[in-house]
Amino acid sequence: MLINGNWADANEGTTFDVINPANGEVVGQVPDGDAATAKAAIDAAATAFGSWSKTTAHARSAILYKAWQLMLERKEDLARTMTMEQGKPLRAARTEVQYAADFLLWFAEEAKRTYGETIPSARADQRFIVSHYPVGVVAAITPWNYPVSMITRKVGPALAAGCTVVLKPAEATPLSAIKVFEILAEAGVPDGVINLVTTSNPAPVGEEFVSNPLVRKLTFTGSTAVGKMLAGKAAGNMKRVSCELGGHAPFLVFDDADPVHAAKGVQLVKFLNTGQACISPNRIFVHQSKVDAFVDTLQSRVAGMQAGSGFEEGVTIGPLVDERAVTKVSAQVDDAVAKGAEVVCGGNRLISNGLDKGFFYAPTVLRGVTPDMLIYREETFGPVAPIITFEDDQEALKMANDTSYGLAAYVYTRDISRAMRMFEALEFGIIGVNDINPSAASAPFGGMKDSGLGREGSREGISEYLETKLGGFAI
Ligand code: ADP
Repeated sequence: MLINGNWADANEGTTFDVINPANGEVVGQVPDGDAATAKAAIDAAATAFGSWSKTTAHARSAILYKAWQLMLERKEDLARTMTMEQGKPLRAARTEVQYAADFLLWFAEEAKRTYGETIPSARADQRFIVSHYPVGVVAAITPWNYPVSMITRKVGPALAAGCTVVLKPAEATPLSAIKVFEILAEAGVPDGVINLVTTSNPAPVGEEFVSNPLVRKLTFTGSTAVGKMLAGKAAGNMKRVSCELGGHAPFLVFDDADPVHAAKGVQLVKFLNTGQACISPNRIFVHQSKVDAFVDTLQSRVAGMQAGSGFEEGVTIGPLVDERAVTKVSAQVDDAVAKGAEVVCGGNRLISNGLDKGFFYAPTVLRGVTPDMLIYREETFGPVAPIITFEDDQEALKMANDTSYGLAAYVYTRDISRAMRMFEALEFGIIGVNDINPSAASAPFGGMKDSGLGREGSREGISEYLETKLGGFAI
């Protein structure tokens, strides 16, 4: 753990194991921190805030720029660490490191653009000036599915704004977090400005984050249940909160779309990260007239996928994160089948060729999915593509919006008017129109409804870490 610039063990030296989900082997041990460690880290961050918040934006930018360079230099090492503890294929891990580094560069630039404004007053003797200041100590909690980029997406803007940070990474992926913090420290982030608390027991650390008066903001990425619980407590202590939570993305393929192109898109985005992404399509609505061609293409693309260790050449889909994830995916598929869904391909755990030692589930396509099935409502976070047919645009739109989530949605059509109508009517924070990758450091990422509060990345991302101060000057 990194506390006040020192790499520290837990009190009494306790540690916990890190597991490779592809084979169940222990690949590392990290300190098992607790609420007292979190408190010490928060104290360090609060002390460091005094000087860090007074550095110039240009000085902070230079450090983030250096961190960006270091991260790119260490891309391979970071990617390998991620594949080892998270399971994603090495190629995908490299892509993630690039995406993670993008946030460091983006916020190195945005640090210098936290412009204020002057506002005309109704009084002749008055001037209004608006300036922005860092909110203070930020407590950050990150998930295991994107163990590097979810850190830079929070720490990048926090540091750019002049905040100090205490981060608790997910218990499944602390090794990637340690490497990111090594880079930040080496880039010149001063002692106490960034602090890392690893733990196998997140609840007491989370409790410290939301109750300690020195923490001014909580930023959380993870499940909706935990996000709501933490946001509720943080709000009770009047802390600022931003949350990136679950999703249940609809993917709409209209009758004028090319079903082959759309199916290729679904295959790429649905099985990315073994379906463990909050923007993963969870309900695929295909127009009746295109569904056969769509399913044929999807089935043949999925048949070409190879599951295995992310380190093996040719592997395109890695394991799920743990046993619980396999159980959840199996339960959703079994429930769908019992209620009448047809398994086009997959539908089972993978156990041959040594895969039984890890947490593998076959990439699966289900047809004939209906609203009474669990998979229609619950986030899957696994490699299952559920297909639902529709006949009428309004019917499809209604079904797409019929979810408590509001993160991402996808639309495939060649009709510009229809595309615009859907862009406007879909109640989601991110809409991909003939586009399966509507995400970049420069673009606002975040959701509506139960998918969260606030946006990350983009021009908006840094404002989550800034206070607005108004000066009224009588002259
Ligand atoms: P998932 O089900 O995808 O693992 P979680 O919301 O459980 O999602 O995990 C996301 C992050 O939230 C992880 O860093 C995890 O350790 C953390 N977390 C889980 N439960 C709590 C809690 N009670 N308090 C604070 N953090 C928590």
